[in-house]
This record gives sequence, structure tokens and C-alpha cells, in this order.
Amino acid sequence: MGLLSVGTALSWSETKKYAYHVKKAGVQQFLAIYNRLKGRKKDALKWGDELEYTLVYFDHEKKQAKLYINGPSILEKLQAKQEEDASKSSIWVPEYASYMLEATPGKPWVFIGDLSEFNTVEANMKLRRQQALTMLEGTGVSLLTITAFPRIGCPSFTEPLALPSQDGVCRSLFFPDEAIYPTHPRFRTLTKNIRERRGAKVAMNLPIFRDVNTPSPFTETLDDDDARAAALPDHVYMDAMGFGMGCCCLQMTFQACSIEEARFLYDQLIPICPVVMALSAGSPAFRGYLTDTDCRWDVISGSVDCRTKQERGLEPLTSDKFVIPKSRYGTVDSYLCTEKYNDIDVVRDEEFFRLLKDGGVDELIAQHVAHLFIRDPVSLFQEKLEQSIETDADHFENIQSTNWQSMRFKPPPPKSDIGWRVEFRVCEIQMTDFENAAFACFVVLLTRVILSFGLNFYLPISKVDENTKVAQRKDAVRNEKFYFRRKPFPDDCEVVDGELEYEQMSINTIVNGKKGHFPGLIPLMNRYLDSVDVDAETRCTISVYLKLIEQKANGELMTTARWMREFITSHHDYRRDSCVSELINYDLMCAIDRFMRGEESCRQLVGDLTSST
Ligand code: GLU
Ligand code: MG
Repeated sequence: MGLLSVGTALSWSETKKYAYHVKKAGVQQFLAIYNRLKGRKKDALKWGDELEYTLVYFDHEKKQAKLYINGPSILEKLQAKQEEDASKSSIWVPEYASYMLEATPGKPWVFIGDLSEFNTVEANMKLRRQQALTMLEGTGVSLLTITAFPRIGCPSFTEPLALPSQDGVCRSLFFPDEAIYPTHPRFRTLTKNIRERRGAKVAMNLPIFRDVNTPSPFTETLDDDDARAAALPDHVYMDAMGFGMGCCCLQMTFQACSIEEARFLYDQLIPICPVVMALSAGSPAFRGYLTDTDCRWDVISGSVDCRTKQERGLEPLTSDKFVIPKSRYGTVDSYLCTEKYNDIDVVRDEEFFRLLKDGGVDELIAQHVAHLFIRDPVSLFQEKLEQSIETDADHFENIQSTNWQSMRFKPPPPKSDIGWRVEFRVCEIQMTDFENAAFACFVVLLTRVILSFGLNFYLPISKVDENTKVAQRKDAVRNEKFYFRRKPFPDDCEVVDGELEYEQMSINTIVNGKKGHFPGLIPLMNRYLDSVDVDAETRCTISVYLKLIEQKANGELMTTARWMREFITSHHDYRRDSCVSELINYDLMCAIDRFMRGEESCRQLVGDLTSST
């Protein structure tokens, strides 16, 4: 989840006093990196994936599945093993919740042109999972890759049992502090400081999925005035950071060969984000209810929304305050290579903007950084306050890593040989390593195609934002249309007679193409593959992955969310009242566990495709 500095965590009232100091030094640190490394060229194309895991405890006698909150003890063992592992196959790190783990490959994949790394991605994912499963043998705990646990926040959803409390860090009616990762101070500090900065608990409301027996209106009995005021009728109400940051995803980071290439890739992947979000959708239920949405995005966005009432535009502004339209977890607000499609208001800190411009940074990057730096630090450690501008980057990273946007533009860290990178952050996690490998390879291959053909997917940022809303709707892949650019080749971009550059298309058209509308991302990939030297084995690996994405896009195969929804609504214990009972949840988790272990294959999700690696 970003920077893992350790030390004595400061309270919000302390942090507030240092906010300006941290931000100004952070901007200066960026400036130093920028000026030192903007000319850096010829870095190798490398990439890596991050998988976030959920520990689930099964009580087979009682037929219950719970979130297992003793993750730290498992992580400790995995990290000890990792130390001994000479082949450096994996890196294990903590994540927000004490039932989460995160792992990356030990070394990034290097793109050498023949794409042969695609033959080892899935094997490495399997290896990582195996490392943890071996550790968990005989404990009743399993390691699932699910975006959101359907009964998160229900009474006694954790193992061991922990109860929510009205004092402490998150003060949730549903989510106990014990479910927040305990031994790393960052996570609890963030939770508390975000709540204190906001001046209230966070509040998320997801529309309930309305079934024939769902009470109408659907309202909950909440014995708390603030909660009653924050909860909307006909919505599932959530009141803690854990509901969002306790969700899991699949992220990919790409190293570009230069800053120019990183900016280009960043821009081109922005319009791709909602497409992958819809395809990967995997979270149709929260707090024991089916919702009318399929993705985690808005929940996490709300879960770290530290904006004050003034900043949210709910109270008249006092002199030095301004309205901030979005939460710090949200979609990207501006492109980095061209102004042309930046059509929404990018709030920025004018002092930092000038500092960056005067320091030699161009308009668009200066705006990007000055926009990130409208946010205050929400986690700060006493020991980290004084830092070098020239050789440290913690203050920069402090703000950068708490701007959780759909894409992240990452400058090279000091004292390392890492280059300019971009991170793709929207993908929901899939239940099997086969599917995760397919999504990772799909996005990675797309980056190669974009760079090699110089593709142009620009779309007004406001349209990308609309697409992101649409992508989260129930079964968006089959039901919705998305704005997308019609002609992606660099030489076919001139617009004839006011004809629009973009139109609304289905995910199927975007991914698989439709004559006269759009060539299709997969046909573009195939065209690229035909033009490079790829051996038969690699081509076969890739084509299975692309087939999976092709069939998810045309609706032949289900998205994870659609499958979960159908599992729940067709379960014998389902009362057509939108509720995911303990038993339904248990059976669902058992089924996912079997797929994950390869004991059973789910035709609705993967058809007859099997990995060729
Ligand atoms: N778990 C978060 C998500 O699902 C991402 C946290 C991170 O940045 O690693 O988007
Ligand atoms: Mg993470």
C-alpha cells in the first residue's frame, strides 16, 4: 500500500503542524530527482505484479467462513523463509488489514523482446501461493484471492472474534480495530488521522441490489446518531477505512526507458483503466448484502476520504480553504503529455506549482505534482521529520503514496538503479492464478503494443471519469457502453467535419473490435505479435490468456462478480432478500478455495481454457 516507514507515529494534531514543512520538502525532493534524472535514458523495460491475498478461516463443523486476523504471524514466517530463499522468488509485505498479505515476484520481469517472461508469470504466482499455503497447512486457514469478503463487517466476521468499539482507531459500528494490521504503525495511524482530519467517520453508501423480498425502503437500525445521519436509505452503509483498504487488487508496475516514455504510457493507460475495471469486476457484496455494483472502487475512495466539510463543498469556505472535488483515492485528473484532453478542474497548490516551474519542470508535470500536494500528510513519523532534499525522498513519497489514483507516475527512487515507472492500479483480483496471470499479461502486452505502434487512446478526462462510474455497475461488461477513441493509430487521428474522435462502445467492441468502429485491443495485440519474433510456446501461452479476456469481454465467460452474484442468488439458503447468509458465504468461500487449489475448475469463469505453462 505504499511507503512503509517505521518509527513513532505522530497524531493528527502534531502532523498538522508539520504538514507544510513536509509538503514543501517533498516538492523539493521531487524537484531534485527530476533535475538529476530527467535525462536518464535506455532503462530496460521491466515490470512486476503485486497480488493482495485474503486469509480465510473455515469452521467446517459450523459451516462458517471468517476473515483470519492473525496475518502478522503468518507474514513473519513467510518473511523468514524469504530470507533463506537463495533464488529470491518472492517478496512478502504487510497490507492494510490483519487478514491480508501481499506478495510480488522477487525480481521484476525483464522484457527482452521475445515475450518469453509470459511463460513464467503464472508459475511464479503459483509458487507464491504455495509458499503461503504450505505455511497454513493444518490450520483451517486458506489464502484466497478475492477483492472483497462478502460478509466483511457482519457480526463476528473475524477469527479470532474481535468486536467493534466506540473508542480506538476507526470507531466503526462494524469493523474492529483488531482487523487493521497491528504491528506496522502506518495503517492505524492513517485510519485515525484520516478520521480526525475529516472531522467525522468516513461514510460509504453502496446501492442495495433490490430483490423481490428486499424490504422497501431498505433501512437499517443503527444505534448511533451520526451513523443514522450518514446512512442513505436503500444503500448498504459502511463507516470504516477497513471496508475499502481491506479490499484486494492486482497491480502492475512498468519501468519505461525514459521519462518521456513513462509519461506517454501513463497517458495511454488512463482510458484503459475503466475497461479493465469492468472486465475484472469481483466485488458484488459487502457487509452481508448484495449490492447493485460489482467493483470496490467507490468503497475505497470513500474509505480514505479525509476531506473536511469545506473541502467537500458542504460548508461555506473560509479564506485559505478550497473545494477539492475528489477523495485522495480516485481517478487521475490530468494527462501528462498534452493539455488537450484535460477538461476537468485540476486543483493545485499555487506556491508549489511556481516552485516546480521555476525549478525547470514543465507545465504538465508541475501541475500533476502540485495537484498531488494539495493533500496533507496523514501518516508521519517523528524520526523522519528531518531529511535531505538531495538524497532522500520520504516526504515526497509520503504524499505520493497516499494519493491512491487509478494510475501512478513514479520517479526513480534515490540511491537505486530503478528508472521512471508507471503503475496500473484498478484491476480487481481474480480467484485463480491463471486468471490473474491472464489479466497481468493482457495489460503488459498492451503496453508493448502502445509503445511499438505509438497508439493514441486519448479521451477527455471527464469521459474517463464517466466510464469509471459506469464500469462499477452491475455486469457493466454486458450492459453498459463506454466512451472510447475510435481511431488509435497516430496517423489516423485527424477529425473529419466535426466528427467526434470517440463514441460509446461496448466492452466487447473495445476489446474484440467491430468493423467501422474500433479495431479492438486484442486484434491490435495480435497484429503486434505477428510482427515480433515470438516462439511457438510463448505464442501459445499468450493466446490462451487473450482468449480468456476475449471471452470475458464478449460475455461468453462470466466476470468474477457475475459468477459470485449468481452463486449467491441461486443458493438454497438465499431468501431473495439481498442477504448473503453465513451458510451462503461459507459455501461460496469453499468453492473459491477449490478453484484456487485446482481441485475443481469453473467453466463459467474460465470455460475449457487451461494455462499452457
Ligand atoms: N488494496 C488497494 C486496492 O484494492 C490498493 C492498496 C495499494 O495501493 O497497494 O486498490
Ligand atoms: Mg498493496
